[in-house]
Amino acid sequence: MSKKVKSQKFVFVVGGVLSGVGKGVTTSSIGAILAAKGFKVTALKADPYINVDAGTMNPTEHGEVFVTDDGDETDQDMGNYERFLNIRLSSTNYMTTGRVYTTVIENERKMKYKGKCVQVVPHVPEEIIRRIKAAVKDSDADMAIIEIGGTVGEYENILFMEAARMLKLKNPEDVAFVLVSYLPVPSHIGEMKTKPTQHAARTLNGTGINADFIVARGPEVLDKPRREKLATFCGVSEANCISAPDVSSIYEVPINFEKEGLGNKILKTLHLPARKTDLSEWIVLNKKIQGTKKEIKIAVVGKYFGTGDYTLSDSYISVIEAVKHAAWHHNATPLLEWVDSEVFEQDKKAVKELKKFDAILVPGGFGTRGIEGIISAIQYAREEKIPYLGLCYGMQLACVEFVRNVLKKEEAHTVEVDDSTVHPVIHINPNQAQNVRENRYGGTMRLGAYDCVLVKGTKSAQAYKEKTISERHRHRYEFNNDYRAEMEAAGMHVAGVNPESNLVEIVELTEHPFFVGVQFHPEFKSSPMKPHPLFVSLLQYALKK
Ligand code: GLN
Repeated sequence: MSKKVKSQKFVFVVGGVLSGVGKGVTTSSIGAILAAKGFKVTALKADPYINVDAGTMNPTEHGEVFVTDDGDETDQDMGNYERFLNIRLSSTNYMTTGRVYTTVIENERKMKYKGKCVQVVPHVPEEIIRRIKAAVKDSDADMAIIEIGGTVGEYENILFMEAARMLKLKNPEDVAFVLVSYLPVPSHIGEMKTKPTQHAARTLNGTGINADFIVARGPEVLDKPRREKLATFCGVSEANCISAPDVSSIYEVPINFEKEGLGNKILKTLHLPARKTDLSEWIVLNKKIQGTKKEIKIAVVGKYFGTGDYTLSDSYISVIEAVKHAAWHHNATPLLEWVDSEVFEQDKKAVKELKKFDAILVPGGFGTRGIEGIISAIQYAREEKIPYLGLCYGMQLACVEFVRNVLKKEEAHTVEVDDSTVHPVIHINPNQAQNVRENRYGGTMRLGAYDCVLVKGTKSAQAYKEKTISERHRHRYEFNNDYRAEMEAAGMHVAGVNPESNLVEIVELTEHPFFVGVQFHPEFKSSPMKPHPLFVSLLQYALKK
């Protein structure tokens, strides 16, 4: 008897009307409810950009660069998938137009199309389908939720739509389409309007795809008359128009979807029998979030991106989520405030305003702007004993601050900012220097998961309760071991080292309640069900303050 081949199921999530209405959270939440039915689920992001990866995209335009264990620089939605599904994704779960075309062109050069004319259709969508199937196989999943970036009607994502259509044509019982659309309630009308979504559904029809579901995002609940209208004009059954009003926490969405029975409705579309959903851990989480009693004030100090708080928070979404997860763990609500470090450069005394915060956090970053202001803020956190966590650049600059102000080597710097400093506390290795000289920027940083051996008795070892940890990196510069002994003698200790390269990954101050700088990005591995130990520790000390 031949071995039964696992049938693969695919749920495509596409957007209508406007971006930024929660397509990523919808994708993640659909994954979460199907996982809560016992399916092994994976998720993919198809990013329409020509960029080969998100590493070369502007974070203020595109949002955070989310790094996978295997070192891929991907879209921030991948972070939501990992957080909601509690799984680890890899580079197979992410594709861009640039990546797809690169493969097709490489294949053409290798005569893999055996002398055929290589065409946009079918060869490009075929490569997209191959990648989707490879991701499912890679993770041995029962089903994949695939989010197509952008909104329907754009030129950019048309080939991803075409791939979805082709896949459905070949496997009509295995593919479902979800249109996440926006239903505005204009203030002068005071009524939820379905027209933009009707247009989006029709535009989607123009690509040969009929939505099986409409997730009706909006400020309010989708009422009966509007549900009927959507069904009539969009060709989607009333039952499959899913109400998705604004929520105070994104982690409510899986529960809201299940209130509408979305999971079993998707199973029906995929020709699978209905199953029970076990949402108990989501219910516990939401109770915890709603029941928080205390507040923790946290300053996030960095250069101001100049396009408003919204963009800032998108650029640091994993950091924000990690802080929330840890705060909820302590039954607290985090009050995050963005502090523009350039203010401290104009007015040195302004750092005193940091006194009101329970903790100070400096996230990752690049470049020279606002750096002196960040260093002043770090000095304040060190001297005033305010709990401090420095992530990547936040660790590097904590070292610079210490060498300048405690070891009294005032010229100390990172060579990223001053490449001729006499005290390069943070330096660059010859390989990386060559990458920079030769403009080889794409995908060449120190990327992905590296082991780190923790030093016994340190705050980090206490937090992790493990000897060796693995965390994700994304940086080009690194700690200069020439300064290690002198720094340790003066009170800044190394708490973690990579066993292969001997690179310093964690520094800590001994004479301080909690002052930890990490060369990696712990925020990428935090999830609501499993808050990250370093963030949990930071907030534990913040609460004590
Ligand atoms: N700019 C620093 C480096 O490249 C830090 C990077 C970061 O914070 N992600 O090493």
